[in-house]
Amino acid sequence: MDLKALIRDIPDFPQPGVIFRDITTLLKEPKGLKYVIDSLALECEKLENTPDYIIGIESRGFIFAPALAYHLDAGFVPVRKKGKLPADVHSIEYQLEYGTDTLEIHQDAIPSGSKVMIVDDVIATGGTAKATSDLVQQIGSELVAFGFIVELTGLEGRKKLPDLPCISLVEY
Ligand code: AMP
Repeated sequence: MDLKALIRDIPDFPQPGVIFRDITTLLKEPKGLKYVIDSLALECEKLENTPDYIIGIESRGFIFAPALAYHLDAGFVPVRKKGKLPADVHSIEYQLEYGTDTLEIHQDAIPSGSKVMIVDDVIATGGTAKATSDLVQQIGSELVAFGFIVELTGLEGRKKLPDLPCISLVEY
């Protein structure tokens, strides 16, 4: 399947100079979601450590992570923006281009020692995925891989991440 043909490019969104890689056009394609989840799952089979839990990063990570978890018979765990999770959380503040943002995970979301994979739609600068990996460290789980649909290689996001398998299905 030609993923680039299915992902819509929106220039200057949400701000001038950014080309937004819009995955809604991929998702509405009847076999689109199945193709990307099957492809991620196939790559996961090659991992040395199979994840027990798939973390999805709010909000577009919530589209892909649960589907991958279903496929792998793994658990799904949401990492959310500040103030959304109801029980006790671990938080991490991280740097954006302008200002900061905070991500949170339930303290009891993952049994300690479990193997965890982090999933999002796009890796750009890598800041969001790095912050999420720091959260995984805080809760004492073992991070085994990252998975993305799209990687913006020019921004070198994967260099920010711990040295672990980093799966992406299409590069720009
Ligand atoms: P970053 O922390 O810079 O790696 O940014 C990752 C987050 O921002 C992901 O959750 C993406 O959904 C979103 N994002 C960043 N750049 C783009 C882009 N060009 N197109 C679509 N989503 C993007």
